[in-house]
Amino acid sequence: MPENGNSSSRQRAIEELQSAEKLLVVTHENPDGDALGSLLAMRDILRALGKDAEAFIDPRELPLPQEYRFLPLDDALHEPPADLEERTVVFVDCGSLERNPADAFRNAGVHILNIDHHHDNTCFGTVNLVDPTASCTAEIVWELMYGLGVEPTPEIAEALYVGLITDTGRFMYENTGPRAHLMAAALIDFGVNVPGMYRRVYEGVPYGKIALLARGLAKTKRYDDGRLTVTELDACDFAESGAEESYSEGVIDHLRAVEGTAVAALVRARISAGDGGRKVSLRASDDRVDVSRIARVQGGGGHRGAAGFTTSMGWDELVEFLRGEVAEQLQ
Ligand code: AMP
Ligand code: MN
Ligand code: MN
Repeated sequence: MPENGNSSSRQRAIEELQSAEKLLVVTHENPDGDALGSLLAMRDILRALGKDAEAFIDPRELPLPQEYRFLPLDDALHEPPADLEERTVVFVDCGSLERNPADAFRNAGVHILNIDHHHDNTCFGTVNLVDPTASCTAEIVWELMYGLGVEPTPEIAEALYVGLITDTGRFMYENTGPRAHLMAAALIDFGVNVPGMYRRVYEGVPYGKIALLARGLAKTKRYDDGRLTVTELDACDFAESGAEESYSEGVIDHLRAVEGTAVAALVRARISAGDGGRKVSLRASDDRVDVSRIARVQGGGGHRGAAGFTTSMGWDELVEFLRGEVAEQLQ
């Protein structure tokens, strides 16, 4: 089994998980496949060890994105438990404390084990296991599983597989290395049904999602000879398409693929937050650009190739900001 990252922090994380009897697993807002797959797998690995382990999903994240609703997370808690301070809170795939919307975890009395692969993780945990060389947080959870001596059930293997295929863009992004493929092979051995998983995650697309994509594509604008490709989805686009907020996931992949694009951006209304603010997703199609640097200027973060931030900037100001940042990095 391949190993990576700092082995002493890995050992420390294993000891934390072994010594705790009560745990709560949590992840980042707008949870994606890696967030939910890692959340579920970690909880069930801990349960396999006989621990009192629960998953927490903030009620503002519900309903979960349609493509991940098949994951057996129905019994996740939607309120922090009363015995929170007796639990080790295991954060997975979450780069900073602020990326979880619940205030309860910001209390200094909360014991946190922070497991993540974002290079800009703020190491907010009492104990931190941050491995930016991991393709996804699920890969770190997968390695911990071996360290803990747990044999995965098909449900655990499928949850880890969801994290792996979504964060690597089905094994196409830069973070895809030999370890990602070795992990896939091992998970398939443990019972993952590959075509079944692809159907569940990528097909059965609600019609409203296609309608929203059509609007996003129709509103696409290109700047600076196409180096910056941007589109916008406002509250009307969601309402008139009959789309849930999470249906905008994937729109940006069409923009990043456009010839000549160095950076793609999707600007969308934050409907459930109800603050009139907008979420900006960024993707780099040019290796020279690090979009997480652009996101950090606005208080966000992410990876070199995929990052995001929230903003109250209007369209013109936002586009000028993005054009300036892209031009600076391409100099
Ligand atoms: P998204 O555009 O939401 O798919 O996110 C792409 C990447 O950027 C993911 O790794 C996220 O964790 C990260 N990211 C997105 N929004 C934020 C934010 N507001 N703050 C920090 N990281 C973010
Ligand atoms: Mn994530
Ligand atoms: Mn991730």
